[in-house]
Amino acid sequence: MTDTAETLHAKRAELLAQMGILEEKPTDHGSISFGKRVGEGTSMAVDRLSQVAVHDRLQSTLADVERALAKLDEGTYGTCDVCGEPVGEERLEVLPWAVRCVADAARG
Ligand SMILES: [Zn+2]
Repeated sequence: MTDTAETLHAKRAELLAQMGILEEKPTDHGSISFGKRVGEGTSMAVDRLSQVAVHDRLQSTLADVERALAKLDEGTYGTCDVCGEPVGEERLEVLPWAVRCVADAARG
């Protein structure tokens, strides 16, 4: 296994672990009385929303990591999925799972 594949697999495992933590259901949910403790219930709802946002971000990074692993197999790793130009060595050093060049990533 190459260093890059190793880095990507490690990142993938890390993302899955973080998502696993977020997906765990709090065990004491049923015992909270929303009638008496409205404030607490509200802040919990907000926490839940930000958890969903974090989860979405992890999910989209995971998709990039898995795409990067597929590109290693295809032999297209390091080239942009959109325009086919090199992603750039510096960019890959910072973001080994980058599958699009800076310009295409910025376009979303
Ligand atoms: Zn591009």
